[in-house]
Amino acid sequence: MGILYVVATPIGNLEDITFRAIRTLKEVDLIAAEDTRQTLKLLNHYEITKPLISMHRHNEEEKSNSIIEKLKNGENIAIVSDAGTPGISDPGEILIKQAIENNIKVIPIPGACAMINALICSGLDTSNFEFLGFLPLNKKLRKEKLNEIEKITKTCILYEAPHKLKNTLIDLKNIIGDRQIVLARELTKIHEEFIRKNIDELIEISESLKGEFVIIIEANKIEKNENELNKLSLEEHYKFYEVSGLTKKEIIKQIAKDRKVNKNEIYTHFL
Ligand code: SAM
Repeated sequence: MGILYVVATPIGNLEDITFRAIRTLKEVDLIAAEDTRQTLKLLNHYEITKPLISMHRHNEEEKSNSIIEKLKNGENIAIVSDAGTPGISDPGEILIKQAIENNIKVIPIPGACAMINALICSGLDTSNFEFLGFLPLNKKLRKEKLNEIEKITKTCILYEAPHKLKNTLIDLKNIIGDRQIVLARELTKIHEEFIRKNIDELIEISESLKGEFVIIIEANKIEKNENELNKLSLEEHYKFYEVSGLTKKEIIKQIAKDRKVNKNEIYTHFL
């Protein structure tokens, strides 16, 4: 039985690849690549000569079957995508699942990933985040996803294609309002920058911005505060509003709203 290596490659700067990734690419029997021309540039740069087969999102299922057969026959295979970590908004998931089902060992070879590097330098909360990949193009699914983002009490991370950036920012503004957004542009490349402006300013400049982007959105803090309050006992919840000077009636109304229950329920508790 061979081993399947999931190898991360650079997202721009060719130096962002580990010694272990290069050794692995040199040692495997075969490399499954998203776009073989793209991977060839990387292999040429590191003077690696290796047979390549193409496996992209339109043929992953079909190609996975033949790759699994090769692994069963003892070949060691690396999977790479055009940039970054396979399986993260890139092919890989189907093949990896099949390998696991067939008791084939799967080994990650860590490296660059746009969303992690965007997040760590965004200045937003890194302790609790949600990666959502690309927003759906289908109108209904897109609306559902945007509504979901509106409620998420964690930092949200999105990928977006350059020509769709403006539309996506407008959609975000309509749903989440003026929450802080950071654009991580051209990570690891010459024109790398983190753009921290309010959403209207971002929309205004978005058409003049070139390159690749990660969109990082501040957590919904209002919902987060409400969730925190709902973990308190009713008495503690009451005290929280009492110290801010609300009347008994106002406090009961607010608690009922936070907890999404009828205000009579709260009123009865405090009788
Ligand atoms: N698998 C990749 C990874 O590990 O990050 C992501 C591949 S996905 C098809 C491509 C998207 O990732 C781009 O549309 C962009 O949102 C983001 N991306 C990739 N490279 C980037 C870079 N150098 N700077 C900013 N965003 C990048």
